[in-house]
Amino acid sequence: MNYKKFLFAILILLIIVSGIYFIGRENPNNSVSNPEPDNNNSKVTKSEGSEFLMDTLVRVRIHDENSEQVLEEVLDKLSYLEDIFSKTIEDSDINRINQNAGVKPVEVDEETYKLLEEANRFSEITGGVFDPTIGPLVSLWGIGTEDEKIPTEKKIKETLQKINYKKIEFQEDNKIFLTDEDMSIDLGAIAKGYAADYVINYLNEKDVDSAFINMGGNVSVHRDKVDGSLWNIGIQDPVRNRGNILAAVEGEDISVVTSGNYERYFIEDGVRYHHIINPETGYPARKGIISSTVISNNSSYADALSTSFYILGIEKSFQIAKGMEDVNIVLITKDDKAYVSEELKGQITFTVDDLEIIYR
Ligand code: ADP
Ligand code: MG
Repeated sequence: MNYKKFLFAILILLIIVSGIYFIGRENPNNSVSNPEPDNNNSKVTKSEGSEFLMDTLVRVRIHDENSEQVLEEVLDKLSYLEDIFSKTIEDSDINRINQNAGVKPVEVDEETYKLLEEANRFSEITGGVFDPTIGPLVSLWGIGTEDEKIPTEKKIKETLQKINYKKIEFQEDNKIFLTDEDMSIDLGAIAKGYAADYVINYLNEKDVDSAFINMGGNVSVHRDKVDGSLWNIGIQDPVRNRGNILAAVEGEDISVVTSGNYERYFIEDGVRYHHIINPETGYPARKGIISSTVISNNSSYADALSTSFYILGIEKSFQIAKGMEDVNIVLITKDDKAYVSEELKGQITFTVDDLEIIYR
């Protein structure tokens, strides 16, 4: 090889190596940082990681003596739950249940069974507004997919017949049966919350010092921060650009979950069609709420209820929240009002000044 050719080969090699390096850095899937020492306690380290799971970017931060190992186990657990709860993964529990709708019961993982029981409880609490059998309507609208469209009245009426949480049969030995053909389960409104609780449970068992979990806006914190101060969790502003917050909530061992119309939607003739569907009408919910936040110790409560309150509107939501322990809410309406549980006074700080704040 002559000298010129040799230089050329080296140059190509350099380009390939640096290319791989940058691709590796920019791929948000499964990036895990090395643990760093935490300033105030020499033994406690911090490890951070992110992974694309459950249709969203999940970020986890662990503070512990074994932060690296804990982080790895947390990401493993989340990916295990995604494998059984996913609607799209071929042999997930949910997919097998859906494929066997009207045919035969399917044996599922204990966690899937428990999650479905919990989902059904929220259907009861919300009078059927929360419905895990919403699958056929979600597919019909296709919001956030290439096929999103306004379906015909007729199609919507037909599809509504297939939605009914009471037709999920819970049988012995963790068997689930959807009694009617063409029914399908979609856990998009509760699975992330359930997964966060599962992880927090594990962190408690392991006596982990402190942790922050963000599953695409569903935030859960474990204990307080390592320096003993409280966490500050932002509530995203539904009208301004992504990333801006309209309020911050202070706390430890809490979960803050927001449902909004700004994540997945399309606009036609000036109307915004988004991904939270009212199973009574078959249309995206329209009660004047543009963002619904639930703050609770329990993240699956927060997840399921934030979606439900978005559909239910102000009055009904406050009625339900007040009847439950440890469920506080922040509902933002189209006309720039924030309806806030009075229990949050002193715990929440609004960072925008064009909202009328109504405690109740
Ligand atoms: P995100 O998943 O964007 O955080 P949500 O928790 O509010 O938002 O869940 C919205 C998802 O829940 C939808 O994409 C759909 O899969 C599902 N869903 C929509 N309407 C309902 C409903 N009435 N009951 C239960 N699940 C629903
Ligand atoms: Mg939800």
